[in-house]
Amino acid sequence: MAKLGRELRAQGINIVDLSLGEPDFNTPEHIKDAAKKAIDDNYSHYTPVAGYLDLREAICKKLKRDNGLDYTPQQIVVSTGAKQCIANTMFSILDDGDEIIIPTPYWVSYSEIARMTRANVVFVNTTSETGFKLTPAQLEGAMTAKTKLFIFSSPCNPTGAVYSKDELEALAKVFEKHPDVFIISDEIYEYINFSNVDGSKKQESIAQFDSIKDRVIVINGLSKGFAMTGWRLGYTASNLEVAKACEKIQGQMTSGTNSITQRAAITALDSSLAPTYEMVKEFSRRRDRVKELLKELPELKCAEPDGAFYIFPEVKSYFGKKSGDTVINNAGDLSMYLLNVAHVSTVAGDAFGAPDYIRISFANSMENIEEGFKRIKSGLGNLS
Ligand code: PMP
Repeated sequence: MAKLGRELRAQGINIVDLSLGEPDFNTPEHIKDAAKKAIDDNYSHYTPVAGYLDLREAICKKLKRDNGLDYTPQQIVVSTGAKQCIANTMFSILDDGDEIIIPTPYWVSYSEIARMTRANVVFVNTTSETGFKLTPAQLEGAMTAKTKLFIFSSPCNPTGAVYSKDELEALAKVFEKHPDVFIISDEIYEYINFSNVDGSKKQESIAQFDSIKDRVIVINGLSKGFAMTGWRLGYTASNLEVAKACEKIQGQMTSGTNSITQRAAITALDSSLAPTYEMVKEFSRRRDRVKELLKELPELKCAEPDGAFYIFPEVKSYFGKKSGDTVINNAGDLSMYLLNVAHVSTVAGDAFGAPDYIRISFANSMENIEEGFKRIKSGLGNLS
């Protein structure tokens, strides 16, 4: 959608982009200053594959401070974004014919990376009725003798669902019964949580349950919480065996991530999180505005997001409707119609394993969000 949007923009058409998957904020100044200093200090050489030791120490401190989790630097592998962390972990754990359970809706790369390992992907559908959260019974029902891995994100991209401690504990109880299954807990949206806009609460991680902690791979990074998507830094916290396997794979694929980014990351993790929470407060304000704007679009059925910066409405009621020669048969058609006719870009749910939904991002200014919703309302109003 971003590419199509750019093409239309190149033709001089004004497109409101509500498809964005990254904060629309700039990286905080103190982090940029740390990067500039790292260049001047000649951090220009290869780094250890798993990342500088002092960065891995800073990550351990962060995991203790924000999540109450204990890890040693040897259990941390720093990579080129959370995406590489996911790939390293999947290639470490999955073999041909193994099964990975992925609750839908899910972030698009989970299934695509898993397929590259030749594992079989088992999708389990969640809907807005359960707040897009997997129930313990669903998880139990999907387990087989071949299940090796489970992956989920909380806060979730694309639904904004955030699992509570009790909900995570209930899932952990299921994993206790399946001791050969690993769990990837993707916590990249950790800070963008609307019940914690000032950092007064701890992020709930499924790694907090000692009975399964050894099999949990926590994935996090700087992309979302520090507005640093282009800097490319993610990390895993896992048991030593998985950490060593991730390091080995990464050593052959990319080596350690960018040295300047790593130095800046130490500053990001060690400093006050005030700029992060300023950003989160703004996302929260926008979410509240989006909630109001949605009242004018009652046909868009939507669970309220508790985190991340998306809403994920069901759009099935528009299927079969028309505007002129354009017929809406699915969410992809609707998303294309909104782009071509209403000039607002969204993402069809197919990409997230949820073909009856579209994703609307509020990682854009309040002004653009309001304009975008005005256009969506008028575009949808012309369908009959
Ligand atoms: N996990 C989720 C749920 C994401 O949405 C994203 C980015 N869109 C990533 C992981 C990857 O993040 P990174 O930029 O750190 O590779």
